[in-house]
Amino acid sequence: MQTGTVTERRPTRQIHVGSVPVGGGAPVSIQSMTITKTSDVEGTLQQIYALAGAGCDIVRCTCNEQAAAEGLAQIVPRSPVPIIADIHHQYRMALAAMEAGVQGLRLNPGNIRKPDHIKAVAREAKDRGVPIRIGVNGGSLDPALYERHGGVTPEAMVESAQQELAYFDEVGFDLVKISVKASSVPLMIEAYRQLSEATDHPLHLGVTEAGPPPAGLVKSTAGIATLLMEGIGDTIRYSLTADPVEEARAGRQLLEALGLRERKNVDLIACPSCGRAEIDVIAVAKEAMEAFGEREIPLQVAVMGCVVNGPGEARDADIGIAAGNKRGHLFVKGRNVAVVPEDEMVDTLVEWAEFINEHGIEAAMARADTVKAEREAAKDRSVLLAAQGADANHAADKIVEIRKTVTS
Ligand code: SF4
Repeated sequence: MQTGTVTERRPTRQIHVGSVPVGGGAPVSIQSMTITKTSDVEGTLQQIYALAGAGCDIVRCTCNEQAAAEGLAQIVPRSPVPIIADIHHQYRMALAAMEAGVQGLRLNPGNIRKPDHIKAVAREAKDRGVPIRIGVNGGSLDPALYERHGGVTPEAMVESAQQELAYFDEVGFDLVKISVKASSVPLMIEAYRQLSEATDHPLHLGVTEAGPPPAGLVKSTAGIATLLMEGIGDTIRYSLTADPVEEARAGRQLLEALGLRERKNVDLIACPSCGRAEIDVIAVAKEAMEAFGEREIPLQVAVMGCVVNGPGEARDADIGIAAGNKRGHLFVKGRNVAVVPEDEMVDTLVEWAEFINEHGIEAAMARADTVKAEREAAKDRSVLLAAQGADANHAADKIVEIRKTVTS
């Protein structure tokens, strides 16, 4: 893990959702939720496998009816990751889900409000050692709390979680994590801040109903990342109106970007493109992203629009490709190592990245003819400089026009 990027994490207790530790210094885990009917066992399992492949550590499935609970009994033993049952209004579904063998439950205090029902579930969860997430949701806050606080406020959401905790305390149950999600980013941030002051139970972060990407990604990242950077949060979920695999991917990418999880896949960087670009950088970067897909190659890979500046601008990348004079110039740690026809550049990039991942940078350098590659790169660089001049973006011409405009 990178260090020095995130404020020290706030200490929380540790619980286990099946084999996955949550809180107490464990790596921040990634969650998502299936969107199939849980009674569709094969369809749900397919989605769970896709989520696990995209880096999801824990998957939640709805348990809203008897058929769903029966589906869970078949899903749980075949799932590659722990399964949490999401309980809506019927506490009996929580009991049924535990009977099915789920490794965790999510209860919404706004939906199951009878103390006897809450305590019956907590007692059973205690006996079975199954953790429960108290999942407060701004949109379904207990009406009594809504009334008392004059709306959905951070204080009301925290109080809702504390009320539920008090019921759990009465039966001696404490395998708990908590969320206080809202669709408003400032509201959820403040609610989690207050909650983290009030409890040391692990916290599950999320912006609820964030919507489709890209807005949903932006909102979720704004809320989740802000809190993680303050050391708050032990497990996260992006709630997107999209294929859940996108949620898992986004969660993993966020944690990797913040240095909270080891990099698993390629970190693709690309130049913003400019007048020097010899290729359509957006299209080639997309092609490269698709070619790397879910391959487990934890390298930083650069796609650069020109060989004039690309290798230098991306010298910190492990490997990269820069276009020039209809050719692709491959570079490793800023040094040119090979030159290939432009239409082979993405395939070559993937092939060399796989080689580096397996054998290391030094082996790649030993394999390269750097003298020839650097000579060819220098040749293409001078062809481009001769054709485009030193100011390919015509900035100097624009500055002359600006000066005329301002002084006239
Ligand atoms: S100078 Fe080259 S590498 Fe830099 S932004 Fe322009 S095209 Fe991309």
